Formats: sequence, C-alpha cells, structure tokens
Amino acid sequence: MNYRSTRGGAKDYSASMAILQGLAPDGGLFVPDEFPKLPCAPEQMKGLRYQEIAYLVLKQFLSDYTEEELRSCIEKAYDDKFDTEEIAPVVKKGNTWYLELFHGATIAFKDMALSILPHLMVTAARKNHCDDEIVILTATSGDTGKAAMAGFADVPGTRIIVFYPQDGVSAFQERQMRTQKGDNTYVVGIDGNFDDAQTRVKQMFGDRELAQKLSAKGLRFSSANSINIGRLVPQVAYYVAAYVRLLEKDAIKPGETINVTVPTGNFGNILAAYYAKQMGLPIGKLICASNENKVLYDFFATGCYDKNRPFTVTSSPSMDILVSSNLERLLFEMCGRDAAADSAYMNDLRETGKYTVTLQMREKIADFAGFYADETRTAEQIHRVYEQDGYVIDPHTAVASAAADDYRAESGDRAVMLVASTASPCKFSASVLRALGETTEGMSDLQMVDCLAKVSGIGIPRAVEEVREAPVRHNRFCDKDAMQQTVCEILGV
Ligand SMILES: *Cc1c(COP(=O)(O)O)cnc(C)c1O
Repeated sequence: MNYRSTRGGAKDYSASMAILQGLAPDGGLFVPDEFPKLPCAPEQMKGLRYQEIAYLVLKQFLSDYTEEELRSCIEKAYDDKFDTEEIAPVVKKGNTWYLELFHGATIAFKDMALSILPHLMVTAARKNHCDDEIVILTATSGDTGKAAMAGFADVPGTRIIVFYPQDGVSAFQERQMRTQKGDNTYVVGIDGNFDDAQTRVKQMFGDRELAQKLSAKGLRFSSANSINIGRLVPQVAYYVAAYVRLLEKDAIKPGETINVTVPTGNFGNILAAYYAKQMGLPIGKLICASNENKVLYDFFATGCYDKNRPFTVTSSPSMDILVSSNLERLLFEMCGRDAAADSAYMNDLRETGKYTVTLQMREKIADFAGFYADETRTAEQIHRVYEQDGYVIDPHTAVASAAADDYRAESGDRAVMLVASTASPCKFSASVLRALGETTEGMSDLQMVDCLAKVSGIGIPRAVEEVREAPVRHNRFCDKDAMQQTVCEILGV
C-alpha cells in the first residue's frame, strides 16, 4: 500500500516514509492509494485481544512494516499503560453505547494513537536508514501535547516540542503538560489559540530554509498531529474492535449496521470511523458533533466551509478549532481524488478563509450529518446522563452524546448508536462539577478531581495521582509570532 499527497505533489511513498515525513512536502496530507478491505469479517474476530484486532487493521495500511515490527509496536503501545486490558471498552448507558477511549496514560483518546506513533516512527527511521534525530513539532488544543510527550519522552533519537494556547486549555491539562518528564521534551505556552499554533507549525514544516538548517545539524521535523497518517490508522482499529465487542455482547448481529457519533475538532477521530467504513465495517451514519465553534456543522448543512467567525473558548477545549486539518482528507475523497481540485479548495481556504463544495461532492458525503451543542446544552447533557443513566461524562463526550440524542430524535433512526467517549471526566472536573450542580469555589484543580470522584463514585485515575506530586518542569512562553525563533533556540540552530 503506497501513499500520495492530497495535493498531488508527492506519490509512491511507502507507509513508513509517509509516517516519517508527517506532512507531505507540498503541504498536503498523505492518503492511501486505495482503501484496503478488512482481512476477515468482524464476526471472525470475536474473542481476539485488542492487540490482535489492531494488528489485522494496521497490517492492511502499513504494508511495508514486517509482521514482527508491527506486532512489536502494538505490544509496546497497548500494554499496562492502559488501566484496563480491554484497552477500549464499550459500555451501555441508557440507550447509548459509549466507546471509552480514555483508559491510556493521559486519560484522553489521543493516547490510542500516540502510544503507538513513536514506535511506528522509530521503526520507520530504521527501515529507511534515516540517522537524523527526529524533532516532533506539535500544536495542541490540550490533549495531544501531553499524550505525544508521554509517548515520545526519552525515546532515543527523538525530541518533542509542544505549543499550546495559554488561555485555551484546562488547568489540569496545563499542569499535565508542564510537569512532563523526559530530557527530550519541551513545552511552550503561546499567546494565541490552537489555530494560531497549528498554522505556524504547518508553516515551519513547509519552510525549506529551516529544513536545511536542521539537516545541517542532523535533525529533521516530523509531526505527531493527526495530519500524520501514523496517527490516523491506529484510530481505525478501535472502531473495528468496538464492532467486534458489540457482536460479542450480542448487541448486534453479524453485518448489522451501527451509527457512530464523534466529538470533533481536527476531524481525525471521525475520519478514522469513515476509513473503517471504507474498509467494509458496517457503519451507517457518521454523526459529526461540534461545540459552539460549529464550523463543521455549518459545512455539512450548507457545503460552505467558512472559518471567518469569532473563535469561542468552551468547556470542550480540544474541539475549539476553526480549521479542521483532516477534513482535507475527506475533501480529497469528495472531489473524486482530484488533487488539483483539492489544492484549489485549500488555496481558497488560505486566501479567503472559506470554500464551497459542489452539490455532487456533497452527495458523496451524505453519510455524514453535523450536529452541535452549545455550552448550556453540554452542561445539561452531563447532568441528564448522570441523573438518568448513572454515568459521568466529560464535556467533549457530552457534546457527542447530545448530538446522538438529537440525531435520533430528528431522524427516528433506531440503529445501535456508538458514541466515542474521548476523555475522562476527571480531566475537566471544574466543568463537570458545575454541570452536576456542585460548587467549585476556592478549590484547586486537584481538589476538584477529588470532589468529582466523591460525588460521582468514579475512581481517581493514575494519571491524576501522577501530576499531584510532580514538580513543574516547563516554564517557557512566547508570542505566537516568535514560535519559529523559539524552536531554533531550543534546537540550537
Ligand atoms: C482531540 C480531542 C477531540 C477531537 O478529536 P479530533 O480527532 O481532533 O476531531 C475530542 N475530544 C477530546 C477529549 C480530544 O482530546
């Protein structure tokens, strides 16, 4: 299986080269030449461990990795860093199935891909005889940064630099990042939002002069953001695994269609569900759930993607995004894999902040439906699900849970609904406690976690205990326009 750029400027990349490279040299995203099929029917995967199912999915995409390499990456990634052997359990609450993706080291779904990406990348460097030190440059809306650092910390041959919006992450998220261990980790707060960080990181990837300076020092950039195909592919695996678990629990019959709702920011998680569908997994509707930054909701409703609007900081900060990078991969499919058309749309986006797709293109994505929940609705949903279904969900999951309810009310569709549950409520305890009607006055972020644990009866995750004692190690801040300078300072170039 080879990879090509959505913008036509790169083709015939092996999977390992695409992973090593991150963003394609022409600024596009790597996509597989075609969608592989599942190697066997989901009902034949019943009883398999998560790691086995992941292997069956990953080998279809990452075909230049040997079986031994892939299995080794998978075993190192999905081990006791996760607090359950199931890795990604499905649980039924009320009339909804939740796919819990927050059992990894940093208690958010980014762990699902970022615990394996460093291993895939180091293996890719070895396979391609690349001796350069790999510098991972990452923009984070809160969860990616910590999960990427946890994955790359002290991995030989790598360094990682994370930029986060100083006023756009939860107190707990910031604490998690600034206490990160590992001599090869660097964390920088910026005075901008996630889009500011992501745009400038992408610019650095595309800067030839900078690449040459790095190369002279034996360094090369790569990406741990979901623009890296090595992050997307491991996410496909959990949708397949979830379907298998639903079969095992007799919630569905072989071949039965399920719907999936995903709380969406950069469009990586829901795109993985779409890829799973292309592989033959029986998924019907893909419900894209947005918060008040509902640029995707508007896109699915009108065909116009328009980022020209105020940016709102919400209680679901990992979805506070106006430029959803991975939508470009869907756009590529929408325009019949026409790289010239894709480039033209991306050009419009860069120059005018918007683009409009044709009716014919919209027909190709009729399986998607956009819904959104504002801040009031999100809090109400946390409250409702706790009161009625006895389940505490975080604000991101609540946005999706509300969208799933709205979709079902509107459509009457009775198919089994799987909602991606993307973070532990402990990570956002202030918002969750307020939604549950508790007062948080005068409490520190960690006291809030304890309070939430008590009120809701949920256990305190290991990840919380870890940051409780950990000293703050990172104190770097910069102006958003000084990001490149900061990178050069850190790397000594
Ligand atoms: C990153 C993140 C999301 C959004 O996922 P995308 O793949 O960027 O669409 C949703 N919820 C949580 C908790 C996240 O960390």
